[in-house]
Amino acid sequence: MDALPPNAVPLSDEPQPRRHRPSREPRNAMPTQAPAERVQNFAEVACGYTPELARAEAARCLQCRKAPCESGCPVGVRIRDFIGAMLDDDLPLAVALLKERNALPAVCGRVCPQESQCEASCVLARRGESLAIGRLERYLADWDRALPRSERNVTKPHAKKNQCVAVVGSGPASLACASELSLRGYCVEVFEALHALGGVLAYGIPEFRLPKVILDDELDSLRRSRVKFHLNAPIGSVASAEELLEEGYAAVFIGIGAGLPRFMGVPGENLNGVYSANEFLTRVNLMHAYEFPKSDTPITHGHQVVVVGGGNVAMDGARTALRLGAQEVTLVYRRTRAEMPARDEEIEHAFEEGVRLVELAAPLEVVGQDGWVTGVRLQEMELGEPDESGRARPIAIEGRERVLPCDTVVNAVGTLANPHLREIADVEINKWGLLVADEEGRTSNPRIFAGGDIVTGAATVILAMGAGKQAAVSIDRTLCEVRSSD
Ligand code: FAD
Ligand code: SF4
Repeated sequence: MDALPPNAVPLSDEPQPRRHRPSREPRNAMPTQAPAERVQNFAEVACGYTPELARAEAARCLQCRKAPCESGCPVGVRIRDFIGAMLDDDLPLAVALLKERNALPAVCGRVCPQESQCEASCVLARRGESLAIGRLERYLADWDRALPRSERNVTKPHAKKNQCVAVVGSGPASLACASELSLRGYCVEVFEALHALGGVLAYGIPEFRLPKVILDDELDSLRRSRVKFHLNAPIGSVASAEELLEEGYAAVFIGIGAGLPRFMGVPGENLNGVYSANEFLTRVNLMHAYEFPKSDTPITHGHQVVVVGGGNVAMDGARTALRLGAQEVTLVYRRTRAEMPARDEEIEHAFEEGVRLVELAAPLEVVGQDGWVTGVRLQEMELGEPDESGRARPIAIEGRERVLPCDTVVNAVGTLANPHLREIADVEINKWGLLVADEEGRTSNPRIFAGGDIVTGAATVILAMGAGKQAAVSIDRTLCEVRSSD
């Protein structure tokens, strides 16, 4: 067994809810940069809790015996217990409890849709306002990050095993899988196609929501836990998953996301000035196009920007366009604000910053002149009966069209899987072009596992992490069975 690192905090296996008199104060708001100021910069919008706010928020927790909040967390964070440790003013233990189950707490504390997960299951939600679990998670992760490295919490790994697992992709699914495998004693090698690690966390989610230093710090923790990263290593080109197995990796996890832009399917979408949200955000986030010509990558600084879509990606596109200096940014969405799938907080922040919404409208054509976009012709819609997603179906109102003038269009209507998956792994693929894997991440090849967006289609960071972690547990179980039958 590896020695317990000097700064590891021992964890109790039999947690007990703390007895305390909960505060009845309302949920504590998160301080943010003022809207007029923040649209001028790319710095983080939310500033995080102060120690006083964190203490006041933790004091609202009821320390429920059954802790339903925990059943809403895809990676099984011991929420009641870490908040209990905060109530005892034992922040090192609180961090240890948090990191034991979540490899990316500072990331999750910033971008996870807690309102539809742990916070939705919190008992306080039924009485009014749930505990701000995500904000407390972020506070703890940031408190830990501010400590010198030697004093920071590390989770105790299991005994080293003589087997190495290859992990393809470096988004949240892969990072959670790599972290869990490393904790279970495996040597892990991550193969990332791009020149930067993190998947959507690096190229998609903008700096003003997730500063890259936060991601880099969490990646650094993984590097210190024996996870080795290979950049510019697209599996499928450099080797297939089967070839990695032949090279001696005991198992392969595939977490390559589903980042291929879906086109709107309307005339004019190849005009200059029309971007997929993926390209638009990658240029800014990963290639620092906002610093052009200091950086090598240019981007159109539109004055009137139309963003098509209603999810987190659309909000990020719209808010990025504002920060690039656009005078007017308009979201075009085929349903209404109530059906928008983006996080409420992101929608509110976007509107506070001046983003406009044209609801019940869908693009019919991107119109242009001399090869450049000049507007979007819109079809007006109305809501009908619910569709298979449970949301009201948008229906076109015949003859009701109009043109919305603009000089830039950002298409954020969704993404698809890589159409060349067969070159990556010869495993079962479904009719949507996604890899087929069961709840434990098993594919049709017993030594190839998969999870995250490449299995579910576009979803969330924490669902991808939950799938990656679950696959790591299955990989460990499979390899243990193989070892014991040898
Ligand atoms: P990804 O994050 O897509 O990572 C896949 C990685 O695999 C990438 O780095 C890719 O380069 C690499 N790769 C691909 N092919 C290969 C190959 N052949 N070989 C090697 N590497 C390869 N979710 C939230 O919960 N909250 C949010 O606020 C939120 N905002 C979002 C904003 C944007 C702009 C986008 C695009 C998504 C957002 N999401 C959000 C969704 C969330 O980011 C994804 O669900 C999540 O990142 C999926 O994780 P993943 O690990 O499956 O894939
Ligand atoms: Fe605290 Fe809410 Fe969890 Fe109860 S359900 S332990 S109040 S966070």
